[in-house]
Amino acid sequence: MVVHHVNPGTWSDSNIYLIVGGRTVLIDTGTGDDNRRNIARIKDLLKGRGLDMIILTHFHFDHIGGLRGIVDEFGSEAFAGAGDAPFIIRGDPAYVLPNLYGRDIGPVDVAELTDGDIIDLGEHRLRVIDTPGHTCGGICLYDEVTNSLFSGDTVFGNGVGRTDLPSGSARELVRSLKRLSGIDVRTLYPGHMEIVSDGNRAIKYGLSMMGGV
Ligand SMILES: [Zn+2]
Repeated sequence: MVVHHVNPGTWSDSNIYLIVGGRTVLIDTGTGDDNRRNIARIKDLLKGRGLDMIILTHFHFDHIGGLRGIVDEFGSEAFAGAGDAPFIIRGDPAYVLPNLYGRDIGPVDVAELTDGDIIDLGEHRLRVIDTPGHTCGGICLYDEVTNSLFSGDTVFGNGVGRTDLPSGSARELVRSLKRLSGIDVRTLYPGHMEIVSDGNRAIKYGLSMMGGV
């Protein structure tokens, strides 16, 4: 399994990761502001293969704004956590918050993932972990083979996601971080900023920031 960092993620645009293994999976799509460039890069990295699936870590616009254009380009099926999926399907601006980026959002079809679902990539398997707190239905994806975690905005290399946006909950976030602290995470692929190699430390730090330990 190779993980490509498609774009230079910032605080205002999410990281986009492309996993190339037995299957090809894109994790998050960014705001879409750089969709043309991102799609060209994804095509380059796929080397003629298709894009099998797109997984959204949560419903915020900076993670799903690029979804429509990427689905139109590759025809891939998109997935999100069962708690967040309805907001994406409806294109609910009160939760997706496109206005923070000066944009609109329309409805996009996504299928639901639930806690414990396994996404089989051939030699690797991604396990879906429900991690509410930043949003009500955010998810992380854990690969037990490489001990890698795609953490969305639940936890970053140096902090945690905010809990003051609609459907956020500090109490839920602490519970989710506690759950993550029970698994062995080496490489952490967060929804924003740098990838870090000591995920366990990042989770512990995030939990301490929240007063959870
Ligand atoms: Zn977010």
